Amino acid sequence: MKLDTRLIHAGQDPDPRTGAVNVPISMSSTFKQDGVGGFREGYEYARSDNPSRRSLEATLAAIENGSHARAFASGLAAECGILSLLGSGDEVVASSNVYGGTYRLFTQVYAKFGLRFRLAEGHTTEAILDTITPATRIIWIETPSNPLLDILDIARIAEGRPAGALLVVDNTFASPYFQNPLDLGADLVLHSTTKYLGGHSDVVGGAVIARDAQLDADLGFYQNAQGAVPSPFDCYLVQRGIKTLAVRMQRHEQNAYAVAEGLSGHPGVARVLFPGLPGHPDHALARRQMRGQSGLVSLQLKGDPQRFLSRLRLFTLGESLGGVESLVCKPDQMTHGSLPPEVRARLGITPDLVRLSVGLEDRDELLEDLRAALA
Ligand SMILES: *Cc1c(COP(=O)(O)O)cnc(C)c1O
Repeated sequence: MKLDTRLIHAGQDPDPRTGAVNVPISMSSTFKQDGVGGFREGYEYARSDNPSRRSLEATLAAIENGSHARAFASGLAAECGILSLLGSGDEVVASSNVYGGTYRLFTQVYAKFGLRFRLAEGHTTEAILDTITPATRIIWIETPSNPLLDILDIARIAEGRPAGALLVVDNTFASPYFQNPLDLGADLVLHSTTKYLGGHSDVVGGAVIARDAQLDADLGFYQNAQGAVPSPFDCYLVQRGIKTLAVRMQRHEQNAYAVAEGLSGHPGVARVLFPGLPGHPDHALARRQMRGQSGLVSLQLKGDPQRFLSRLRLFTLGESLGGVESLVCKPDQMTHGSLPPEVRARLGITPDLVRLSVGLEDRDELLEDLRAALA
């Protein structure tokens, strides 16, 4: 099946008992055993597995071209699952401009348990490759990056990983519609399903997708042992969102291009950061590695960002991204507020930077809103 079909059918067969075309929300926390250990379809206790989550996981595996997936209660819970594969003394290489919550999880939680984090200063493919050592066990990347939207070469980093190291790609920004890291050599794909996969800003969730059965089984152990699992209702909401991913991403992309092109050269904007623009430093790599661009556009403003934010009418000031409604945030104080100020400054996450998550509204009205706020 092609992706557009998989989004709607993979893991989502009509219910064999009732014919319901939507997978029922299965709220039972426990399952009857036919004699001790006599499980029907393998269900025993809902933390370990349940019909709503199993169905969502089958969909997630199929749309990332994986063979297995694990759903979690949030993107960060999914990250805890991945990091639990390691032990004290193991080394993780990442860029210091990973998602702020990821940075905090690395430096303030897992570092306490003896994991060692080598954070590349630059957010370039070379900087990541240069930071890898023979002791590296996980290379953790985000591309496009947040909030500067530069692109890392997934295939090159996959080739450069030492034996025994896993490449983890956080694919939240691109979504499976525009990029499939497993096809480029990644070992694990991470999603905050809170964003484009859920797509309606009404659910928090996470997922990890793999191709290797043993790796998936190891993750499944921690998923169950730590218990940070999504509720059946949340599984339903994510799966409901995934059904419309194709049409939503097409419109997010069109609207993002309209905004990026419409604001290029605007006297109130010092720089438009959008990998879809031919002037973007990573444009060629983006075109090679991705099938398109999602709705994220960052702007460096010339004027007062607070004034700009307060004058917007359609772009709502808030954390998060990837929903149907347009959002705007100020990364230095919001998404990346948990980074030390000197790290933020070195990365270029400056006070004049705003990040737009361009939604599905009428694109002329979105541009009008932005131009009015810039005036
Ligand atoms: C939001 C986000 C996360 C964290 O996911 P939660 O669902 O908020 O826990 C991780 N990575 C990226 C790129 C994100 O945008």
